Order: sequence, then C-alpha cells, then structure tokens
Amino acid sequence: MNSKMKAAQISKPGGDWELIERDVPDPGAGQVRVKVEACGICHSDSLVKEGLWPGLKYPRVPGHEVAGHIDAMGENVTAWTKGQRVGVGWHGGHCFVCEQCRRGDFAMCINRKVTGIDFDGGYGEYMIAPVTALAAIPDELPAEEAGPFMCAGVTVFNALRNSGARAGELVAVHGIGGLGHRWVPIITLTRLLQTSCQSCKSSAART
Ligand SMILES: [Zn+2]
Ligand SMILES: [Zn+2]
Repeated sequence: MNSKMKAAQISKPGGDWELIERDVPDPGAGQVRVKVEACGICHSDSLVKEGLWPGLKYPRVPGHEVAGHIDAMGENVTAWTKGQRVGVGWHGGHCFVCEQCRRGDFAMCINRKVTGIDFDGGYGEYMIAPVTALAAIPDELPAEEAGPFMCAGVTVFNALRNSGARAGELVAVHGIGGLGHRWVPIITLTRLLQTSCQSCKSSAART
C-alpha cells in the first residue's frame, strides 16, 4: 500500500483549501482506519473553513459525511472486520462513562467528538475514526448515496422519527434542499407533498 495519501485541509481560520500529501495514518486502540470511498459536502464544513468553531485546532481536514470501508484496525477493536463497509457522520464518538452516556444519550456526551472538527475527517483518501463513530452500511448502497446519510440523512430521519407520521400518511417537506432532498429516499410513506418547487430538485422528488 502507498504510505502517502492526498487530503484537502484548511490550515487557518479563513484559509483556502489546500490539497496536500501526508502520511497515511495508523489507527490507535479503539480506532479503525477508513478507506474513504465518498464524502458529502455539508454547510457545517464552513465552520472549519471560516474558523467558527471555538478551540478548533488547525490544520484540519473537514468532512463528516463519509462512506468507505475499514482498511486497518487498532487494538481492542472486536465488533468490526477489515473490509467492512462503514459510514462516519457528525457524531465522532462518545465516552460511555459520563452521565449522559450512562443514560444512553450518546449525542449529548460531554466528551463527545465531532468528525472533521475534533479530528480529521473524510476529505482525504484515508481517515482514522473511533469505533463509537462507526455505522455499518449495506453493500448494495453506493458510497455516494451512503455518505450524505451520515449527516443530512440522520438529521431528516430524526425529524421524521419524531414527527409522529406513520406509513401511508401525507407529509410535507418544506424545501427540498441539502437536507430536504435526503427525505426523498428515506420516506417510504406512500405520498409526498412537496412544497418547494425548484425544478432541479423537484425532479428528484418525483423519482
Ligand atoms: Zn453536516
Ligand atoms: Zn460520555
């Protein structure tokens, strides 16, 4: 395997994108190395670009809509296998020991990490991820479809999950934009009322 990889990084707040070459990183204990197959672009990447996240350390490789497969595993990784397809989203891992974690509310972990902000993300050929950040993705789902599910997809699925809507009910999606268009493949409800009619996006909603 090539020991070098390409990545796109931001080296200072307000800095330009830099296409750089760096060593392929090795996973530590409880971590895996992901061979990135696709990474979605999220508006939240601008937090890195513009320096809007307090305490963010530079240089930083953004990207938290990652789809790929496990390329190498560190020590103490037992529930995953090399070659397994995985996704990595905004949630970059949790501690399992704080009060929120012990309640099962991992998203509110006081020690939680954010992918592409607290550690380098998917705008590179490889990235390191803690196992607590991994989601298994099915083999038949193309990487370019799976990646955006890791952030935009989770966001809209959570809204749908908490909406009270059930199969067969009519739902309205106000704005088929970066988040709204992720509803379209998620919704298995029989009817979708689209309230935003930008032509390029409405064609996606019809399919
Ligand atoms: Zn995002
Ligand atoms: Zn925790």
